[in-house]
Amino acid sequence: MGLPPTEILLSPWLLAVLGLVVGSFLNVVIHRLPQLLEREWLADAAGYLQDSATMTRVLGAPLARTDELARQGAALAAEVDALPAMSLSRPRSRCPQCGHQLAWHENIPLLGWLRLGGKCSSCGTRISARYPIVEVLTGALFAAAAWQAGPTAAAAVYCVALALLIAAAFIDLDTTLLPDNLTLPLIGLGLAAAWQRWIPVSLADAALGAFFGYFALWFVAAVYKLVRGVQGMAEGDFKLLAGLGALLGWQALPTIILLSSAVGAVVGIFMIVARGHGRNVPIPFGPYLAGGGVAALFFGAQLNGLWSGV
Ligand SMILES: [Zn+2]
Repeated sequence: MGLPPTEILLSPWLLAVLGLVVGSFLNVVIHRLPQLLEREWLADAAGYLQDSATMTRVLGAPLARTDELARQGAALAAEVDALPAMSLSRPRSRCPQCGHQLAWHENIPLLGWLRLGGKCSSCGTRISARYPIVEVLTGALFAAAAWQAGPTAAAAVYCVALALLIAAAFIDLDTTLLPDNLTLPLIGLGLAAAWQRWIPVSLADAALGAFFGYFALWFVAAVYKLVRGVQGMAEGDFKLLAGLGALLGWQALPTIILLSSAVGAVVGIFMIVARGHGRNVPIPFGPYLAGGGVAALFFGAQLNGLWSGV
């Protein structure tokens, strides 16, 4: 007996359910990946502090100073080492307030949260509505990908891309980090899928999309830095747009850039005027790029027609 036919495996209904489960995992990724990376960076920093040769080479620091830095580095390394072990799969999800470990039925995507009424079963602390929102969003986008692309390899490619985009957008929103662990796989996925003809984008268009996606934003950021003297965008944004360019082809870039800047500007002005957000506080651009990319994926043809019709 083999697998059920792809028409069933890649049907919108089944992918909606799969999306809920993937969304539940994305919640863990969104929560833990930044912490895992920051631990890694702290451990790296501790290593550098203990590396007298580098300290002398870079700072020209005298011996007494490098000894002191090495002592601090060793103390920092010990502190990082002493942190409780963490990975994407371990430990199992707990209530951050009381430490209650979630039972399997409390961990069921969406339904677990609904049955608990959005509260921890042990201490009654509210559980953020963002968990079920991420799950429903992932389920809805997976179903939309299946509906749009039909039971084809493209549907599977788009689902993987959507999962990467959702994780990247929410991590950027929370921490203003856009981890390479998410943006680089998106570039690779787009190029590989175009090369294998899994998506309706030629390899040349995908490669140009990655290239122009990266350098279009790099150029905007360089000009902004010249004019304003501050860094407005980071390299993570360039890589994210490179990934979208690889997945959707260079032709999609104007739509993505126009949409994300327009929405980003409206929200940015709203934050400054209504919420008293400082003008120079960085507003993460990743969520807008990801949103623009999703819009281009589902409504690209219509949106392109809109611009060129103006
Ligand atoms: Zn609790």
